[in-house]
Amino acid sequence: MAAHYDVLIVGGGIAGLSLASALAGKCSVALVEAEQELAYHTSSRSARQFIPSYGPPVVQELTVRTLELLAARDAELSEPILTPRSFMLIGAEEDVAAEASGLMRSITPAEALELCPALVPGTFQAAGLDEGSFGCNAPLLLADHRQRAETAGVDIITGAKVHTAQRLGSGWQVGAGTEGFQAGVVVNAAGAWADELAVISGVEKLGLQPYRRTAAIAAVDHPLPEHSPMVAAADNSFYFRRDGDDVLISPSESEPSGPEDARPRPGDIERLVDRLNQVTTLGITEVRRAWTGLRTEAADGVPVAGFDAEAPGFYWLAGQGGYGFQTSSAMAELAAAQILAGQAGAAAASGTAGPESRTAQALAATRWSVRR
Ligand SMILES: Cc1cc2nc3c(=O)[nH]c(=O)nc-3n(C[C@H](O)[C@H](O)[C@H](O)COP(=O)(O)OP(=O)(O)OC[C@H]3O[C@@H](n4cnc5c(N)ncnc54)[C@H](O)[C@@H]3O)c2cc1C
Repeated sequence: MAAHYDVLIVGGGIAGLSLASALAGKCSVALVEAEQELAYHTSSRSARQFIPSYGPPVVQELTVRTLELLAARDAELSEPILTPRSFMLIGAEEDVAAEASGLMRSITPAEALELCPALVPGTFQAAGLDEGSFGCNAPLLLADHRQRAETAGVDIITGAKVHTAQRLGSGWQVGAGTEGFQAGVVVNAAGAWADELAVISGVEKLGLQPYRRTAAIAAVDHPLPEHSPMVAAADNSFYFRRDGDDVLISPSESEPSGPEDARPRPGDIERLVDRLNQVTTLGITEVRRAWTGLRTEAADGVPVAGFDAEAPGFYWLAGQGGYGFQTSSAMAELAAAQILAGQAGAAAASGTAGPESRTAQALAATRWSVRR
């Protein structure tokens, strides 16, 4: 017999786990993850940085709120999830001006060189600094969500890929791995597979597009000092930051991909190392490990959170792109409020689910027109 829950979350990355902990204790919840381990895909492959000035205004708003929520959580933990680490953008005047927004202030190249002496003078003309930026202990955040969820009775089932999902009465009947579930609400937190899950569920897909992004940990001759900012090229050609005595580096590529277990391509990291050894004095000597993840975006580049307008009880929590961690707690807070308000299905049917905040509207109510 199928187990029954109020909410079935599909996907055990940062999106699904954040929501599981936000809903924990408020209704009955199960989370199913296709892989044997949680956060196997994009959520274990990020650069672990929160940048309030990054992205469109609604993303910046969600980032600021996530920082507030995690700062409150940090007050209760022995080890912090967040550690201050500023973010610096460098490049040509017009590129920095185009990228720098809201919470970033303009600084001179001399100030930039003082903050990051590893940069070679003359290789950039302008800079911007976001001092409200933080490094995130992503494994700790994921483990904290899991522990909070499980402690409050959320069932987490790994190795259970959803293969069938259909409306049954006022809810959903879902097959995942060898198990069967019934749930009032299905949450689509399937990352790069979110459209695929929609199709499996008989729901029109959104046209979400995964994009490859590669990163690596490299050894250097000259480690960055402890409080160095993360540095990104405003033309999106690289970023790097301190990682202990090593550096984390990325070519910042955004290449369309299908949903898959993405891997680095030969040459990507080698070209990046050559470039960084020209524009910095880091002296990269060896690449210790490299990985690729998928940043999945809606057509307008804004995350999607909300009940599907046409499929009652089907909630999208997807399209987080390159902001999935820094928006996670705010997205989960909003999603939990909308799901709890809309559990009976009436709100979803009328299209007015959830709190009437500006963020909620930007994320949900007007979004179905972005289907492509
Ligand atoms: C190199 C790189 C650097 C990044 N840096 C940052 C950063 O500094 N800050 C930031 O905020 N964000 C960053 N991001 C983006 C961030 O990592 C993502 O936005 C976030 O991890 C997405 O989380 P998710 O839970 O939506 O997806 P995922 O982590 O991919 O989780 C989705 C899960 O759903 C599961 N699933 C799929 N289909 C099914 C199914 N049918 N049944 C069951 N389970 C299923 C998958 O197995 C997967 O585990 C970065 C991304 C990359 C690639």
